[in-house]
Amino acid sequence: MHTIIFATNNEHKIKEIQSLVGSDFSIITLKEAGIDIDIPEPHNTLQENAYEKAITIESITQQNCFSEDTGLEIESLNGEPGVKSARYAGENRNFQANINKVLEKLEGHKNRKAQFRTVICLVWNKEVFYFEGICKGNISETMHGAEGFGYDPIFIPDGASKSFAEMTIEEKNKFSHRQKAVTKLFTFLHSK
Ligand code: IMP
Repeated sequence: MHTIIFATNNEHKIKEIQSLVGSDFSIITLKEAGIDIDIPEPHNTLQENAYEKAITIESITQQNCFSEDTGLEIESLNGEPGVKSARYAGENRNFQANINKVLEKLEGHKNRKAQFRTVICLVWNKEVFYFEGICKGNISETMHGAEGFGYDPIFIPDGASKSFAEMTIEEKNKFSHRQKAVTKLFTFLHSK
């Protein structure tokens, strides 16, 4: 069995990804690896932030690891909040404040098309690989549901009639950006 560190402290992401992992891989979280740091996300692209997180943890642990960075890209806001999704309404990364800001900025906009985009960076035997997953959908007028995290209550994926926050993890994974990127990651790892 291969052991890989997932460089995140986000419990929701860990749950989503663990439900997708087969028995060939053991995913270790930062907590389980005994690492207690807030990994920086200082860059202007998802790819650079994902790289920064993965390489930071790889250099501390000398173990294979991957990280992911995700952004919500809203068409009529020119791709905002994008790479700034976590801190859209301020440094304290408040999910509710971020949602309020999106809904305010979209007031009066007919085009509510958006997509979540995930970039995974894998450091595997010192080599770096990237995997992308996109989920297209629309931003609702109001919040719906209490599951999930982040912008889930206002995002309705194409092909669904409810928001991510009204879905179980298994339902969300049928549509999700993170699931698509992780599937590519595991397809790659299985080929190793
Ligand atoms: P991160 O920097 O990759 O942790 O994610 C940036 C922000 O995007 C998070 O703080 C969430 O607000 C939002 N986000 C990431 N993934 C999701 C998701 O699957 N659903 C809803 N919001 C998400």
